[in-house]
Amino acid sequence: MSPRPRKLVLAVIDSLKPAMLERAVAEGRAPALRAILERGVYVRDCVSTFPSVTPVASATIATGAGPDGHHIPSMNWYHRGEERYVEYGSSFEASRTFGIRRSLFDTVYNLNMAHLSRERRTVFEHLQDAGLRTAGTTYLIYRGRTRHELQTGGGVFPLIARLAQFRHAVWGPTELFYADLFASRRTPCRSMLGRPGLRDQHTGCVGAYLVEEDLFDFLLFSLPDNDTWSHRYGPEGQLQSIAGADRALERIMHVAGGPDAFLDEHAVVVMSDHSQTPIAWRINLAEVLAGWRVLGPRDPERGAAEIAVCPAARSAMVYVLDPERRERLLPAIEHRLLDEPGVELTARLVSDVEASVRSSRGELRFAPGGSLTDPRGASWSVEGEPAVLELDTSDGRVRSAEFPNALARLWSALRCPRAGDLLVSAAPGFEFVDWGGVDHVGGGSHGSLRRDDSEGVLAFAGTGPGSAAHREQWSIEDVAPMVISHFRVGS
Ligand SMILES: [Zn+2]
Repeated sequence: MSPRPRKLVLAVIDSLKPAMLERAVAEGRAPALRAILERGVYVRDCVSTFPSVTPVASATIATGAGPDGHHIPSMNWYHRGEERYVEYGSSFEASRTFGIRRSLFDTVYNLNMAHLSRERRTVFEHLQDAGLRTAGTTYLIYRGRTRHELQTGGGVFPLIARLAQFRHAVWGPTELFYADLFASRRTPCRSMLGRPGLRDQHTGCVGAYLVEEDLFDFLLFSLPDNDTWSHRYGPEGQLQSIAGADRALERIMHVAGGPDAFLDEHAVVVMSDHSQTPIAWRINLAEVLAGWRVLGPRDPERGAAEIAVCPAARSAMVYVLDPERRERLLPAIEHRLLDEPGVELTARLVSDVEASVRSSRGELRFAPGGSLTDPRGASWSVEGEPAVLELDTSDGRVRSAEFPNALARLWSALRCPRAGDLLVSAAPGFEFVDWGGVDHVGGGSHGSLRRDDSEGVLAFAGTGPGSAAHREQWSIEDVAPMVISHFRVGS
């Protein structure tokens, strides 16, 4: 009989930029990450979803599916069935604009229990179905098979939960520690309201407890503070927040007896959900599209609105509210958007089997199936202006250095049943202001189809193939299958 697979820790460092990780390691600020890289395989261009924002990417990491499979279209989207915006917390101000209670409810409950497709199992569900013990720290996607009641003890977050009338239990991994809302065990760890800068510490504290007590086969170890820091200080600022993430990893290694002992006993995957780029300019899409009646966040005359506008950092979506008027309004809206220097690309479906993507350079149409093969092995046909996506179509291949995995990512985003009619990707240096009026000018952001937003870290030790050359183009879609095959659980 083959030996039992090692326990596996999946550490997701939000917005981790490969160049910044490399510098942090070279400068001696990340000894735990260094130990993992020295033992394992390192990929510096693992491509994210489009849009390259956390709710979409987290759902992909947890399920292995793109937005067409997991059904989470963006950070902010329009719910056609409920005729309202859904906001997963682009900023505190954006949440306040839609109502803190509603935004928290969407993020904590609806994202997992209502919006995330039931057709795809999460990695937690998959492993629990096979009898394995799973665990997770505060992460947007936590859906699993074990019921967890809301915490009713002391602390600040339970108070807010009471005020927001949170009552419901959730289904999560075997062990779930989500802010101070859900905690499957009593630990000395406090998340302090999930305050930025303290969340990695909470993860480190809970993770050390889980390692010490031997409570999991699979642990999703979430390190979100790097994203907040990088939004504020720009990607260069990550040197400091990567050191913070490293301390959380050191902490779980320490209770196992140090890096070597820990890595003998555990396989580890470290990854980004997406990257970040510097922001110099803001653009307000609701103002740009003021020629149409834009649905407001708490619109007293919802019936009068023509379009819904959903900014999400360096990406956005536009919905035409009356389906009968879609064909007439979309070309004019597209035209107006492409007049803006901050808008680089717009994309939409032209039929069930074909998509159109436009920039100031013209229009490119593409469809699945055809004679061209992309770096992940999918086949496509294209016509029109390849310069729109800087496509190289020589030798029967189709690829783009600037817009990695462009066709598959756009197609999956457009085929998501909750996606807008028009998807938008920002030009370098631009960010769309969120519904709370917040941007990150002078700092960093992400969301676009470009490589600088989209290419992140994937490192694995004690699991996965022996070389990065195993795949020409790695994607965050590859991680859930890698974890599942590590435990030799059939899919
Ligand atoms: Zn972010």
